Amino acid sequence: MSGAHSQGPSGHGRGSGDFVFDMRSLGRQPGSFRDETRTAHAPEGLGSGLVLVPAGADVALDLRFEAVSEGVLVTGSAVAPLTGECARCLDPLTSSVEVGFQELYRYLPDPGEDETDDEERFLDGDRLDLEPAFRDAVVLALPLSPLCREDCPGLCPACGVRLADAGPLHGHGEETDPRWGPLRQLDVSDRVED
Ligand SMILES: [Zn+2]
Ligand SMILES: [Zn+2]
Repeated sequence: MSGAHSQGPSGHGRGSGDFVFDMRSLGRQPGSFRDETRTAHAPEGLGSGLVLVPAGADVALDLRFEAVSEGVLVTGSAVAPLTGECARCLDPLTSSVEVGFQELYRYLPDPGEDETDDEERFLDGDRLDLEPAFRDAVVLALPLSPLCREDCPGLCPACGVRLADAGPLHGHGEETDPRWGPLRQLDVSDRVED
């Protein structure tokens, strides 16, 4: 099934060391837990068009690892800086994103067990690589339309000037501008005649 490859070539255990935690101290004893805070460096490629977590930026992790019978349950939060562009005026912006997660990392399944589904996460021996969970949580939390400020007025649709600079009186007298009059009267459907 091709879906099995959807997580990319990184496989397991290749994450940045910053996101790998050693679970030995839990001793695979259900009920034992450990709290840990750590500053990790953000992996590359976290984000999309308008906004991203800069690679190498400090990510504050605040985590609890709890041994359960099937594996280790991670609960916690991560705070990472964001840089990007305002979706309305395209000005650079900086912000931050905070994500919370609760993820079960299972002990590797026995060879005889049914095929596992893609959504599951596994421990690599006693190593728990939080990076895939962190990555998924951040990608979901990224703002689709980041704004430099909530009431950013954006750009003038006619001339592209930043309306925050141009002021509230900026305009083009649309109704009277003769250049636009003919265009407005064009009825595109008229062109579809033989
Ligand atoms: Zn803006
Ligand atoms: Zn304008």
